[in-house]
Amino acid sequence: MSQTVLVLNSGSSSLKYQLLQPDTGASLAHGIVERIGEEASSAVLTFGDREIRRDGRIADHEAALRTAFDLFAEAGQRLDSLGLVAVGHRVVHGGQRLYRPTVVDDAVLDQLRELAPLAPLHNPPAVLGIKVARRVLPELPHVAVFDTAFFHALPAAASTYAIDRDLAARWQIRRYGFHGTSHQYVSQQAADFLGAPLESLNQIVLHLGNGASGSAIAGGRPVDTTMGLTPMEGLVMGTRSGDIDPGVISYLWRTAGMGVEDIEVMLNRRSGMYGLAGEIDFRILHQRIESGDEDARLAYEVYVHRLRKYIGAYLAILGHTDVVTFTAGVGENDARVRRDALTGLATLGIEIDEHLNESPTRGARLISADKSPTSVLVIPTNEELAIARACLTVI
Ligand code: AMP
Repeated sequence: MSQTVLVLNSGSSSLKYQLLQPDTGASLAHGIVERIGEEASSAVLTFGDREIRRDGRIADHEAALRTAFDLFAEAGQRLDSLGLVAVGHRVVHGGQRLYRPTVVDDAVLDQLRELAPLAPLHNPPAVLGIKVARRVLPELPHVAVFDTAFFHALPAAASTYAIDRDLAARWQIRRYGFHGTSHQYVSQQAADFLGAPLESLNQIVLHLGNGASGSAIAGGRPVDTTMGLTPMEGLVMGTRSGDIDPGVISYLWRTAGMGVEDIEVMLNRRSGMYGLAGEIDFRILHQRIESGDEDARLAYEVYVHRLRKYIGAYLAILGHTDVVTFTAGVGENDARVRRDALTGLATLGIEIDEHLNESPTRGARLISADKSPTSVLVIPTNEELAIARACLTVI
């Protein structure tokens, strides 16, 4: 029987899970437990063509994981009969020291806890998820796979903030980059799609989902990325501002009487497309733009402007790019964003084929014009599969 890996992605009130076969890439089952700790919790498992759902209070993350296993049992499946060899955990921040896929023991868990200040919104729920899963599945190796890992090797010129050196060293302040699992996976897929060795390609990868980030990759090695110390820097996102003048923060603190927590929540949860237009779903934003909504139009223009700015920056950093790849919810599905991001760049060697771009095909596909020296691709990301495969490298 093929080996399987259970991949967990723990949020503060949710637990996403997926059971995969790393060698075939097949996903056997996936599901999510939401609103953990609330009265109206819900759990769902999709196994093959069956969907099983359970509603009602799920008190905490341990109950959430046990509920997920109950749903497997309801589907007539037992995890121990499905070839499970490891549990992979998505961890957002690995700090300076943790970047390889790491089998979690008590010492690693302590290290992860110490990283909480670097990613206060993301790391604590991941640590909780690992703790709970180790208790529920003690006989299996638990592997942490870090969103920052791929960008660990960024050149110093790209990873260093031009601030007081001693302060930066003391507090581990650098540009770490995030969505690394996706950027690495998608850049390898792009090379495979083009039938070219990864080492031979310059690439720009645009991961455009609710969170959004771009990267410049030369010969498989990242040379820059848009996210920094935290996943707030860079592109405009669903609810995050991306780049702002740091002066805005002190200005708000001093003049608007906002505390640091208020400012952080505003920049993380009430900014981006939501902050500008009260909406994060691009399908709805397009409808609103068509019906003349000025807020939606401005939000979209700010989004595209920032995206083009980074594409230009990465072209300059790389000298030239062989491929530009779009991935994640917006990148994979929104032909208008792809078109508007790349319109007018023919003189820089990038030209999209309108017809291919609009085609509703799924899966990895080429959308550049025949005469475009740069290949433009759409490649579905699969962070769970990348995490599952990373687990097998260390167990
Ligand atoms: P992700 O974080 O990768 O799951 O991406 C989620 C986002 O993708 C949603 O908030 C939508 O804005 C966007 N999205 C998903 N499907 C579509 C679609 N068919 N067209 C445009 N945007 C989409």
